[in-house]
Amino acid sequence: MIVVGGGISGLTAAWRLRADAEVTVLEGAPRIGGKLRTGTLAGVPVDEGAESLMALRPEAVRLAEEVGLGDALCDPAPAPTTLWSNGALRPLPRGHVMGIPTDPDTMAGTGLLSDEGVARLRNEETLPAEPTAEDVSVAEYLGGRLGQETVDRLVEPLLGGVYAGRPDRLSLRTVLPRVAAVAERGEPLLAALRQMRTPGGGSFPRADAPRPVPVQGLRGGTGRLPLAVAAASGARVLTGTRARELQRTPGGRWRVLAATGDGPLLLEADAVILAVPAYEAAELLRPHAPLADADLGAIQHASTAVVTLAFPRAEALVRARGSGPGHIPGEVFPEGNGFLVPAVDGHALKAVTFLSNKWRWQREEAPDVFLLRTSIGRVAEEHRLAVPDRHLVRSSVIELHQALGSIGEPVAARVTRWERGLPQYGVGHIERVARVREAVGKIPGLALCGAAYDGVGVAACVATGTAAARQITEG
Ligand SMILES: Cc1cc2nc3c(=O)[nH]c(=O)nc-3n(C[C@H](O)[C@H](O)[C@H](O)COP(=O)(O)OP(=O)(O)OC[C@H]3O[C@@H](n4cnc5c(N)ncnc54)[C@H](O)[C@@H]3O)c2cc1C
Repeated sequence: MIVVGGGISGLTAAWRLRADAEVTVLEGAPRIGGKLRTGTLAGVPVDEGAESLMALRPEAVRLAEEVGLGDALCDPAPAPTTLWSNGALRPLPRGHVMGIPTDPDTMAGTGLLSDEGVARLRNEETLPAEPTAEDVSVAEYLGGRLGQETVDRLVEPLLGGVYAGRPDRLSLRTVLPRVAAVAERGEPLLAALRQMRTPGGGSFPRADAPRPVPVQGLRGGTGRLPLAVAAASGARVLTGTRARELQRTPGGRWRVLAATGDGPLLLEADAVILAVPAYEAAELLRPHAPLADADLGAIQHASTAVVTLAFPRAEALVRARGSGPGHIPGEVFPEGNGFLVPAVDGHALKAVTFLSNKWRWQREEAPDVFLLRTSIGRVAEEHRLAVPDRHLVRSSVIELHQALGSIGEPVAARVTRWERGLPQYGVGHIERVARVREAVGKIPGLALCGAAYDGVGVAACVATGTAAARQITEG
């Protein structure tokens, strides 16, 4: 068995197959893990890609436990979702669903929406609601019911935080399935979302309920997860080995032609799992499933950069204390776990995570610095990344000072670029994935998994890896 791609999807598949097959994992990069990668900054481990695991769905957390990392799982500090919007940091009132405020009254006076924006929300329940039959973009549906301002200022930054995507392109059915279900039933939206939050009314937590922890981290970094999964799988892992071509032998086996630092390599196996980004899978599938190739090739990707910065903690505190009477000595500054930024305000920053506040282990490992990371770049914002690393560091620092006040200058910085790192689930994504699966399902001994299909989060990727392994073993 060959798994092409040593990210978390492929490694999960390899791990699930450990009792059934001898598995070889081919990884094009010098190391495994894909977007789960932990580096170091100022002597401390820092995640350069994903830094949290969804805990509301079980797959990623369970996998961590299964491969012996249960003791390393940790909760983030509780903090409200905060937006840097209209020139100030403003917490989003509780009771929102992916930025959609279920109670318009909570928005009044927050500065997040204008009076007209709040009035538009209040008006939603009076609008006619016809059942929708087709998938539409998030912006088309939500803009029509809640107004463009709510889409731009509340929903876009939350979606941007996950997909680095644009609401006018993202599929409602794929990225907001429960909202899409309301649209398909033709019900007023806010009342339906509130109903889901009442006891027995659905799966959203109630606004006043103690909140379940939505995500968890791993002490030492989430980059530990793929390493532990690979080790537990017992698979042979070949790094620096990029699959170039997939061939079918006359006997119905698979042959993978790969490029390595030492020259080409040819491997043969009964079955192959492609656990690579959609554009790579499209290339490899072209001779075998041209229809799948076209659909996979049509999936857009957003490029982003993560800029991790270490500020001297004492300096940040001194400056904060001196910056206004509201700050008391010893106060942790800045507060909260970070903030999201609406694209409409025109800043380079898309999101900021205060690592030293969010993850206790990081604060404890580096008590003298304040660690944070910024995220820059959404789909169709490639121009923001077409600059040297030092410019990304500079624009991060300048905008951090605008948002937070002066917190000093960083003593260390690390820039990680994720070119075409996040697949975009455009309108019709579910149908596109169904067509791909149908085409590939007809080819024996071939399966797909990865972030392009059923969710970009680590938990969803783990689920696709498990499903691909099952598909191969069950035939
Ligand atoms: C900056 C960033 C932050 C994120 N933050 C979070 C987060 O906090 N929480 C969360 O749940 N999700 C997050 N995500 C999403 C999540 O990390 C990814 O969707 C997920 O890790 C993808 O896993 P994968 O195995 O499907 O793909 P990848 O991680 O992309 O792995 C695919 C692997 O295949 C290799 N490869 C590609 N082509 C070939 C080839 N031809 N031959 C051999 N190998 C090949 C690549 O080198 C790569 O290692 C984030 C993503 C990014 C980019």
